[in-house]
Amino acid sequence: MIVAIDGPAGAGKSTVARRTAAALGLHLLDTGAMYRAVTLEVLQRGLDPASAEDCGRTAASLKLAFDDHGKIQIDGRPGEPEIRGEDVTRHVSAVSAHGSVRDVLVAVQRALAKSWGGLVTEGRDTTTVVFPHADLKLFLIASPLERARRRSSELGRPEDVETIRADIERRDWLDSTRALSPLTRAPDAVLLDTDGKTIEQVVDEILRLARGAQRS
Ligand code: C5P
Repeated sequence: MIVAIDGPAGAGKSTVARRTAAALGLHLLDTGAMYRAVTLEVLQRGLDPASAEDCGRTAASLKLAFDDHGKIQIDGRPGEPEIRGEDVTRHVSAVSAHGSVRDVLVAVQRALAKSWGGLVTEGRDTTTVVFPHADLKLFLIASPLERARRRSSELGRPEDVETIRADIERRDWLDSTRALSPLTRAPDAVLLDTDGKTIEQVVDEILRLARGAQRS
């Protein structure tokens, strides 16, 4: 079974996807980590995040895989924690806007799904472009302030809520207005507002929907 979870930055996709995958005994595919990995390599090679050619070539040159914990490996080396760094976060929207990058990564994502047989995935275009025929599609939302609070506590920087909120709103805007695979809710994706809900409540709701989707 394929469960695809989409939604804006900080809506809780990562944690919810990880726990849902564990509960269903499925692999986890963190597509954002793949775009971050390409961005990290582009920056480390001193290339231009604005160049579709540089970024596409970098994406095609990398061997991206996931370890047993769902953590990304770049050419056999762990991508964490470098892919979560500020520099990568600042440039990832630019890198992921290139069709040359998306074409490569979407092909890898579909190949992984085929070899794994089933998965829980999360990321901007997973419900619309990568897995339009997923058994269950979800679109998680939460207010920008709530999302910034969660991100800042995850990062251990409670004093930076406002800066993080500005960054989240900037990325929402960039991701929703770009030409290729913008952040949009698939018409058949279930909208889940996570404001004021615990992770357990959200995961329980998804498991209930997943069981229903398995039966149908
Ligand atoms: O999920 P995460 O915040 O790590 O994603 C980082 C960035 O990667 C997003 O802001 C977006 O620009 C890009 N991305 C994407 N398509 C995906 C997943 C992530 O363009 N499927």
